Amino acid sequence: MSLLAPGLSLGVDVGGTKILALACDAEGASAASAQVPSPKGDVEDGGASLADAVCTAITSVAADLGVSAGDLPIGLGLPGMLSLDGVLAFAPNLRSASGSDLAALLAERLGPVVVTIANDADCAAVAEQRLGAGRGHDDLIMVTLGTGIGGGIIFGGQLLRGGNGFAGEIGHMVVDVDGPPCPCGAKGCWERYASGSAVGRMAREAAHAGRLSALVAARGGDAESVRGEDVTAAALSGDLEARVLMDEVGWWLARGIANLACVLDPTCVVIGGGLSEVTPLLIEPARAALPGLLEGGPRRQPILLVPAALGPNAGAIGAGLLARDAA
Ligand SMILES: [Zn+2]
Repeated sequence: MSLLAPGLSLGVDVGGTKILALACDAEGASAASAQVPSPKGDVEDGGASLADAVCTAITSVAADLGVSAGDLPIGLGLPGMLSLDGVLAFAPNLRSASGSDLAALLAERLGPVVVTIANDADCAAVAEQRLGAGRGHDDLIMVTLGTGIGGGIIFGGQLLRGGNGFAGEIGHMVVDVDGPPCPCGAKGCWERYASGSAVGRMAREAAHAGRLSALVAARGGDAESVRGEDVTAAALSGDLEARVLMDEVGWWLARGIANLACVLDPTCVVIGGGLSEVTPLLIEPARAALPGLLEGGPRRQPILLVPAALGPNAGAIGAGLLARDAA
């Protein structure tokens, strides 16, 4: 660890729309941060535009601290499948960087730096397990709800990477082989039923089926134009039909968790991600449904189902913690 920035590491969370860089200590307390937009476009450029943007965020934080980037262990959380050697093998929401080696690209731009690369949901899982809602649980699953579903698995106190680094792609667990198509190429993936985009799809289907009458009326009778955001806002303000739809999404959340429990037997599942505002509306029905869906039902220990505690910084904090581990 550098004497120039004692006790700090720098975590970077790369999202589909923004990149957050955060220097923090072992307790997750932030010393400096910077945010830049994620590069746009689906054109593959070998990760060059992403590396440029990440460098901008990193150098901004380092400058705030009065150090250079090489003085800090750097952790980078990326939304996609990371192979064990740190190559971004598949990133449907970050196509421009597919196949790239971000650690090498950052070293080209920043000089000698130590970069630890991990999946973004894995980073959030580490942060929540050590410092957040999952403290005290050695067998934990982090479920991040956003456009899709991300996952991080802590198994026996260790982050589960898998044989190739691809463990925890829980959103693409198939729950209905005849279900709607998923960007990954399969049909009926869990994230088609229990994510932000799932709320939108199920809202349109419900509207076409004559449900969500107030929302359809607000859209001038056009069922197709009803959006997921309409449903979540209406549910938060007490609309009963919107609440019923959120209950259905919550049931699907529990369905997937019960499937994961068959394999991993977690004691705690932490729900985080960009849908945090409506997480309580999903957790309550999921808590109600889960015991009836779990093998063993009431004869087994209940699984704690809790909202994430660290908010939108969890990914960056976790990336920083993993960098600290590796330093
Ligand atoms: Zn899928």
